[in-house]
Amino acid sequence: MAQAILSIDLDAIAANWRALASLSASSVETAAVVKADAYGLGAARVGRALAAAGMRRFFVAECSEGVALRAAVGPAPEIFVFSGHMAGDAEAISGTDLIPLLNSTEQVARQRSVLPGRAFGIQLDSGMNRLGLEEADWRTLAPSVLAEGPVLLMSHLACADEPEHAMNAAQLATFRRMTDGTGVKRSLAATGGILLGPDYHFDLTRPGVGLYGGLPFAKARPVVRLSLPVIQIRDIAAGETVGYGDGWAAKRPSRIATLGAGYADGLIRAMTGRATLYAGTTPCPLAGRVSMDMIGVDVTDLDHAPETLDILCTEQGVDALAAAAGTIGYEILTSLGHRYARAYEGGAG
Ligand SMILES: *Cc1c(COP(=O)(O)O)cnc(C)c1O
Repeated sequence: MAQAILSIDLDAIAANWRALASLSASSVETAAVVKADAYGLGAARVGRALAAAGMRRFFVAECSEGVALRAAVGPAPEIFVFSGHMAGDAEAISGTDLIPLLNSTEQVARQRSVLPGRAFGIQLDSGMNRLGLEEADWRTLAPSVLAEGPVLLMSHLACADEPEHAMNAAQLATFRRMTDGTGVKRSLAATGGILLGPDYHFDLTRPGVGLYGGLPFAKARPVVRLSLPVIQIRDIAAGETVGYGDGWAAKRPSRIATLGAGYADGLIRAMTGRATLYAGTTPCPLAGRVSMDMIGVDVTDLDHAPETLDILCTEQGVDALAAAAGTIGYEILTSLGHRYARAYEGGAG
């Protein structure tokens, strides 16, 4: 069966983890963010491979992801939940041994009433205004919460991918003011924060995208390759058009390959007219609009009829494709379709 194949290099993910860990002191632990199905790459396989490589702490966005990850990685690793303790989640949190990162006065109250004495962390808002306790609320709650023994105090940076941005130092100062002297383990840095240097590392860092080969970790090892099957090839005359809406006309006699993946698979329509496929190292431009399940590609310059063409490969990584589509590598990764056959390479898990 000719199917689009997404190859995922688990050894490269583990290598990226070790490379990110080497950027902070050996006393700093480097955890892994595997939310959104490990950025589209498969949280169970990625989680198992990282656990086998020695990962002891994972972060997910919501409780249901934590439940699924627990089944994959077993009882040993700690699993933190960014959205904290949402109403109705108590049974799943205690049943699968998750650690909610409590975000609000309301969540602290909920944890105390339904899961008293169970492990929790606290998420603080240091300026991003997305999740976390505001400084004034934290001042009120801190004496009683600290007496209950939170396992982690964390916050998140809004502009860590822009090292010169003044907000980084401002958030760092706020986070320090809110947590200095507490004696509790602290975490501020995701991938971008790790690259900002030791002031931002505290006790634990939480990279996501850098593990999966994306910016801002420019030195990451590539993790994914996406090969699309050619369904049909046709020769067209100069002046003929390809695809919906009459948007692309051949300037010369051309050879057009129709490939089996489209915007329903995460090849977003904004790639129309901008993205490039590769036959080995030879670039082949998109021809015509991206459709739901297909794209047209100009293969006139190839000396052979290809069986597959790559859209993610050594020549074009997730960030290069993202740039062509006017988005970021994170969105390319998390949009990767469910129809692709995922082929895992390496990984002890
Ligand atoms: C997604 C996320 C991370 C990981 O961010 P990357 O930029 O992918 O490294 C870390 N912390 C929080 C709170 C997040 O939401």
